Formats: sequence, C-alpha cells, structure tokens
Amino acid sequence: MKAVRLEAVGSITLRDIAKPVPGPDDLLVRIEACGVCGTDRHLFHGEFPCRPPVTPGHEFSGIIEAVGAGVSGFSIGDRVTGDPNIACGRCDHCHAGRINLCRNLNAIGIHRDGGFADYVVLPQKQAFLLPAGLPPTHGAFCEPLGCCLHGLDLAGIRPGGSVVVLGGGVIGLLTVQLARLAGASTIILSTRQASRRALAEELGATSTVDPSAGDVVDMICGPAGLIPGGVDVVFECAGVRETVEQSMRLSRAGGTVVIVGVTPQGMKAEFEPFDLLFRELKVLGSFLNPHTHRRAAELIASGAIEIDRLISRQVPLEEAPAVIANPPAPGEVKVLVVPARV
Ligand code: NAP
Ligand code: ZN
Repeated sequence: MKAVRLEAVGSITLRDIAKPVPGPDDLLVRIEACGVCGTDRHLFHGEFPCRPPVTPGHEFSGIIEAVGAGVSGFSIGDRVTGDPNIACGRCDHCHAGRINLCRNLNAIGIHRDGGFADYVVLPQKQAFLLPAGLPPTHGAFCEPLGCCLHGLDLAGIRPGGSVVVLGGGVIGLLTVQLARLAGASTIILSTRQASRRALAEELGATSTVDPSAGDVVDMICGPAGLIPGGVDVVFECAGVRETVEQSMRLSRAGGTVVIVGVTPQGMKAEFEPFDLLFRELKVLGSFLNPHTHRRAAELIASGAIEIDRLISRQVPLEEAPAVIANPPAPGEVKVLVVPARV
C-alpha cells in the first residue's frame, strides 16, 4: 500500500510499504480522508516529539476492510472514525479519568502509523461508527471537533452567555459553531484574514474583529466596544503570545479563559496576577479530546456542524508530503488527504 512516511525530522516521502495486518482486537480501515493538522507540520519540523520512521495522520476515517478475531460490534464495510489518542489505562492519570494526560500516551499518527496511507490499523476500543450515508470527508473532522468539545466542556457556556474566540483556523471555526449550539447569544471571533471572518459570521459568529485594525481588547470590551466590561468565556485558539495576553484582558470579572492553542514550548506571556485575583479569572488549559470522540462523531453524524465550508481542498496521497512540509496557503482552513480507491 502507499503511505506517507516521516523518515526523520525534515524528511517526508510517499512510499510503498506492506499493508498492515490487524491484531486480534484491531480493525483494518481503508482510509477515506485524513486531515492535515498543524501538529503534522510540527512533527516534520521536529517541534513535536515522535518516533520516526512513522506514518503521520491522526484525523482520519474510513471503511473497515478486515477485523481481528476478538472484534465485536464492528463489521466489514462499516464506516468508522478513530480516536487516535490511545491511553495506557494503567497510570495514575488514567485511573483518575484524565486519559488525555496519560503518562504513556501512544497516539496513532504520532507514535504509531497513522492515516496518511491507504490503510490504518485501529484498535477497536478507539473506533466509533459513523453513518453509511455520511459524506466520506466528514469523518476526518471528528478528532479536531473532539478537542474543541473538551474546551467547550471546560468553559461551561450557558445559554445567553457571551464568548470570544481568538484565531479563525479550523479549531476557532469549530469552536464558534459549538458556542452557537451551546446557546451563547454573543460570539465574537478575532482573526486577521477577511475570508475567515466572513466565514465565521456565516457559521454563527455574531460579529468579528480584525486584530490588525486596532486594539482587540478595546474593540471588544472597551467602553465603546462590542461588549463593554468583557465576556463570560474566552477561547484562545491561535497559539500566539499576543492572543494569550489578550485572552485574560477580554474576560469579564469572574469569567473563564480556555487556552486551546498550542504556543511554542518555552514561550512566555505576561499577565498581572493581581488582575487574576482581583477579577477572579479562571484560566484553564484544554488538551486533546478526553471522552469526547463519541460525541464528536454523533455531532458530525447529525449534520449539526457545517463541515463542507471548512474543507479548502482535497489532495491525493502523492501531494501530502508537500502539503505537510509547507505552511498553509492564505485563506486555507483544512486540507484533506484523500487516497485513491485501491
Ligand atoms: P491554525 O489554522 O493555525 O489557526 C490559528 C489561526 O489563528 C491562524 O491561522 C491565524 O489566522 C490566527 N491568528 C494568528 N495570529 C493571530 C492574532 N494575533 N489574532 C487573532 N488570530 C490570530 O490552527 P488550527 O488548526 O485552527 O489550531 C489552532 C490552535 O489550536 C493551534 O495552535 C493548534 O496547535 C491548537 N490545537 C490544540 C488542540 C488541543 O487539544 N488543545 C487540538 C488541535 C489544535 P489569521 O491568519 O486569520 O489571523
Ligand atoms: Zn495512562
């Protein structure tokens, strides 16, 4: 079969490799679509630890082609989405239910072979059924949506509440949609690209701001701003210092800040501890998708999340190495790798 192989940091290529054989508790899944994520680019540049040689790709779905002897509840021909993050189940964090913080996390597409290939091996405990009638590209969004759902769960949005989302990539645009579904009445997105601001307004943002046009904090919560005094919940979905610093200033007193964006390790940001204390801010980190993949699959299956507008282009496996090795093109939201039918 064909697979995109990360041979070493800075070296990625398409190869013919042996089709994998599923173990007793595994499914062999023929990939229908696998999303390119910033993490794939970080792996290529050596900015995220992994174990090359490995096939990246952790946002995948496809059709079951074979099942191991111990598999139940799944049949050949079923469409499934895979939660790539395999927790050990034995460490202190797993025992406390914090599976995203597992000490021995073994992630498909990072530590073991993933979805930029014709086939992937998926342990049955990581698999979730999707409807046969779903567009084959939509299942690839379950993983990023699951990460956004965890952020939503932490934030505790209430109907009628106010939300700011910083960063209009796929994570920010999914978070806007989830905030709308959660009943927020004010949803403000800040992102530099005009096309993304327009899309966010179509997806449920009640207004958008351009951070290059002025002081975002002033535009949103200044005396003449959109919501003077600040908002109930801020989602930081850009992963840059500027937005991390804005996030705490945009929250109202007693509000919640959820850090979803991945900033470079070692980066520092400034905030005033006095402000945190005096205004009782809750600043929370949201990492991965603990116990949210099934709900993400249900949401995608229900059609409640707009997916097609987030797909910028679909490329064959042959083009995947170049997509991963280069920064996203302007205006691009999500690129899907779609293997040719084998
Ligand atoms: P992305 O496409 O890079 O989106 C981030 C966007 O933020 C950028 O494209 C950029 O869009 C915008 N941005 C940059 N500087 C900004 C600024 N000063 N003000 C406002 N917006 C700014 O990435 P993504 O896939 O949506 O992911 C977003 C972040 O979440 C990344 O850091 C990613 O690593 C992280 N992530 C976290 C988890 C988790 O479990 N916590 C899961 C998946 C991803 P414009 O050019 O339009 O400004
Ligand atoms: Zn564990």
